[in-house]
This record gives sequence, C-alpha cells and structure tokens, in this order.
Amino acid sequence: MEDTRYLTAMLSVLETRDLILSHAPVLETESVSLPDAHGRVLRETVCADADSPPFDCSAMDGYAIRAGDDSDHFRLVGEVQAGSDNIPEIATGECVRIFTGAKVPSSAGKVIMQEQAILENGLVRFEDAGPQSHIRKQGENGKRGDVMLSSGCRLEALELAILANCGVVMPTISRRLRFAHLVTGNEIVPPETTPSGTQIRDSNSILIRSLLHRHGATLVDQQRVGDDPVALREIAGSLPDHDIILISGGASVGAYDFTLPLLKEAGFEIHLQKVNLRPGKPLIFATRGKQLAFGLPGNPVSHWVVFSLFIAPLIAHMIGAPATPRFHTGKLATEHQFRPDNRHTFWPCRAEPGPGGYLLTPLRFVSSGDILCMAGANALLSLPSGENDIAANGLVEFILCES
Ligand code: AMP
Ligand code: MG
Repeated sequence: MEDTRYLTAMLSVLETRDLILSHAPVLETESVSLPDAHGRVLRETVCADADSPPFDCSAMDGYAIRAGDDSDHFRLVGEVQAGSDNIPEIATGECVRIFTGAKVPSSAGKVIMQEQAILENGLVRFEDAGPQSHIRKQGENGKRGDVMLSSGCRLEALELAILANCGVVMPTISRRLRFAHLVTGNEIVPPETTPSGTQIRDSNSILIRSLLHRHGATLVDQQRVGDDPVALREIAGSLPDHDIILISGGASVGAYDFTLPLLKEAGFEIHLQKVNLRPGKPLIFATRGKQLAFGLPGNPVSHWVVFSLFIAPLIAHMIGAPATPRFHTGKLATEHQFRPDNRHTFWPCRAEPGPGGYLLTPLRFVSSGDILCMAGANALLSLPSGENDIAANGLVEFILCES
C-alpha cells in the first residue's frame, strides 16, 4: 500500500533530504581514461603497485660516494643518468657523477651536490660534503600495496596525478547521472524573445543546465512546454531512460498545476508535496522504480534553493560521494533585519572567508520571484522558523552553493 504519511505532513528540510536520499540508488560504474575522469568520483580502492620511490634515487645533481668516505680527492669512475640501467659501483676514494632521479649505486651512501664539487688534476674534491645523504630511499614515501585513494574521492588534478603514478589509466568511476528537464508555463518564452506584456523569459533552463553541468551530471533532454496536460503527458511518457526528471513550474495546487497528476498518471509514487522551506515550499518528489522525479516551484530563486538543498546532495549520494550540503557556521558581516517567518528560510548571501571564519553579507531578498538576489550570491543562510533577530557579528548557519 502507498505510504501517504509524507503527503499530509510538511517535512523539515533535513527530513526531506533524508527522505530523498533513502529512495536514491547509488549508480553503476564505468571505466574511462584519466582526462575523462577529471571531476568524477572514484569507485574503487587504488593501491600503490610499487614502493615510492621504487628504487634508491638521487635527490640532487651531484656525485655519489660510499658512506663515510672522507677521502680528500675522489676518482670519477662513471656517470648515471636518470632512467639509465647502467649503474657503476664505487670503491672508497671513487665517485660517480649522478643526476636527479637516477638510481644510486648500491655501494653508494651519499650524494654530494655538484655545487660543492671542484675538479682538480682530473680528481674531484668537495668543499663541503654537508650532513645530508641526498638519497631518496626506496619506499620512503610509501610501500607497495599502500592505499593511495579510496572509493568516493573526487578526482581532481592532484588525485589524477596519483592515479597516473599508480598506473591506473582507466579508473572505475560512477557513470554520469542522466537528467531530463521540462519547463512548463504558458507565460514562459525563450530568453532570446522579447516578452509580450504577460510573458516571462525562461531563466530556469539555463540555470538548471549550468547547475547540472557544475555538479557533473548530464542533461540529456530539455524542453519547454505550455501548461498543457496532453503535451506534458506525451513528453513524460518519452523519458523512460533518464535517471531523474525535473519538472519546473506547476508543482503547486493551482488549476493549471499539472505536475502532480501527470506524475501519478505516469505511474510514479508520490513521496512528498511540500517542505517547510522558503523559498521552495511546493516541492514534489516521486519515484518509479529506480527513476526519480521532482516537481519544482517555478521561480528561479526557488530552483536555486531546492537544487542546493536537495538535488546537489542527491547527485553526490548517487555518484558515491559524501552527500552535501554541509552546514557551516559563520558570522553576519553587517546588521540585517530579516523578515519574521514561520517557515525555515534560506536567505541569499555572499559568504567570504575572513581571518576568524566566514563572514556573511545578506543580500536584498524581496521574494522567491526576486531573481536579482542571485547576483553575487554564493551561500544560503539558514533561518529556522521564527528566527529573524540576529545581531551583527552573531553566529549563523549557512551552506555554500556551487553554481
Ligand atoms: P509556477 O510554479 O508554475 O506557479 O510558477 C511560479 C512563478 O515562477 C511564476 O511567476 C512563473 O512565471 C515563474 N516561472 C516559472 N517558470 C519559470 C522559468 N522557467 N523562468 C522564469 N520564471 C519562471
Ligand atoms: Mg506555472
């Protein structure tokens, strides 16, 4: 029997996030080349296939001598270049010219920097041998079999360099999430159009496209459609292969809000219809097998907030990374009069790291229809229901929003 508890209750933000994540499968994996793995999430444990360094090697351009050899002059008996297999051995009173990264003769105990060497009568003398050996010992950084990277880590430039070092050239990663995005509304026109007196330019298409791109998901399908249940039904029926369907607008209970009936008719189980959240209260979450769907309230600010609070963590969870968002603590940079509100409000802010932690500047925010508040915003300040009185310098919780 369908669980209808969530349909009557207005869940909190955290309950909503947990509910969504509890229905979200972790994705299958694929193997891709290192350049293609940039920014993706590793799904295997990667161990060193050799000691690091793999052999005793010189840390300097210089001369290798035996350990403890305090001869005045040394006879030069050979040379070892990096990558060379031809390693001459040395006796007391002898040295070999050696270069950074070259394998050190097993009979050597020390490398002396070339800056200290003076050639005299065909022999080498060292002005100051110094206390250091300048030999990087085999395995001093790590041993063969050591865990280098763990499943769930994001592969940025540094991690890719480690994979290359381990010879893992086709890492196992999460496949990309496939999204579809339907933008509904008779009043919505493409951004390149000059709207008539009753029309609005579509901001949500590019917003969602860019946010998905930033979070490493693929937008496979994006369509604009009027508030037309027949057209909507047709399009929704043609999206069986997408992991997640986002439907913008029409998520509320107005006569022309078709998202809920559409999803029900398409066989989706509805888990959620509203959240204790401003902006973003009418939020539909539904599943059909492994497929997930969201009905998002149409205003761009609500889109940004819902994406940051729920969809970004969902993407992270499904690709096997730690689920965001993390709530941070910061201080208000300036005094700000927040409106009293009985809903949990997420207020657009600019967060800047300061010497003692983050400083937050609340931005002008009139309503969820106020797209201007997104200019320069990079954070959402959490104001739990009924809390609006925060002194300048007062502690606040916020999330950082990647966009
Ligand atoms: P709705 O959720 O469909 O009731 O829409 C709420 C508000 O968001 C309305 O004022 C819409 O005009 C506006 N809106 C809906 N979709 C978009 C969009 N794609 N771009 C900009 N504004 C939108
Ligand atoms: Mg609408």
